[in-house]
Amino acid sequence: MNDNKPQVKLISKPENMLKTIYTACRTCYSADTPLNIYDKDVDEEKMLNLIKRVVGSGHYSTIEHIQVSFAISNISRACTHQLVRHRHMSFSQKSQRYVQEKGQFDYLIPHTIEKDEVLKAKFEDFMSEISKKYLEFVEAGIPAEDARAVLPNACSTSMVVSTNLRELIHVANLRLCTRAQYEIRMLIKAMCEALTEQEPWLKEYLVPKCERLGFCDEDKSCGRKPMLPNMAE
Ligand SMILES: Cc1cc2nc3c(=O)[nH]c(=O)nc-3n(C[C@H](O)[C@H](O)[C@H](O)COP(=O)(O)OP(=O)(O)OC[C@H]3O[C@@H](n4cnc5c(N)ncnc54)[C@H](O)[C@@H]3O)c2cc1C
Repeated sequence: MNDNKPQVKLISKPENMLKTIYTACRTCYSADTPLNIYDKDVDEEKMLNLIKRVVGSGHYSTIEHIQVSFAISNISRACTHQLVRHRHMSFSQKSQRYVQEKGQFDYLIPHTIEKDEVLKAKFEDFMSEISKKYLEFVEAGIPAEDARAVLPNACSTSMVVSTNLRELIHVANLRLCTRAQYEIRMLIKAMCEALTEQEPWLKEYLVPKCERLGFCDEDKSCGRKPMLPNMAE
């Protein structure tokens, strides 16, 4: 069993992220060619102002040119099952068909169970029972692809995730909201932090959706922003 924090590393991003988006934005409104626009020196503030105006008006193709990749481990299959619902992300995940468990499989304990010693011990006992049953099936000649049927949502997994910036912002807006499940919220937070460490200008976009909308559109609100008038009780 590992600690409950997702391990996240940003493994790929364009060097010239800001300039690429600026060039895409500027190309739409300039008689000049993208080649010339890209080659001209422009100060960062000017680029950021244009990007803010263009992205703010919903002209999102300009941020689809940026592709980023993350190496992710120590997350549960419950978490990745939610992540893979996002259709503009690309995934390569550790296979439970080709990678057979040799002993106790790694798993994540949900944080609400982890903080209760009694429930935590019960959870751990149950994981160990499942592991024994899994190994029993494997030793009886059942292939890993079928023996895995007994493995739980808590099983630890790893993946490489790639996405364009538009989709990452969309996913951050949804999954940083307190209505999203805790583990995926922590995962997306770690992914956003890995990126904003290198591209701090993205901090204002990689936020819960209420920060971009200015209001909460959920039926139950955490109170961070006012609810839409017709949704408030
Ligand atoms: C808090 C929360 C709770 C959830 N609970 C459940 C649940 O109980 N059960 C459940 O099944 N799912 C649940 N989901 C998952 C959710 O229904 C979506 O499957 C998931 O958010 C991915 O869809 P998306 O709209 O975010 O778009 P993505 O797949 O990330 O795509 C991004 C955007 O592209 C566009 N797009 C993509 N594909 C299409 C398409 N086929 N047609 C038109 N436009 C498209 C849309 O504008 C979309 O918003 C939950 C998600 C959240 C955030």
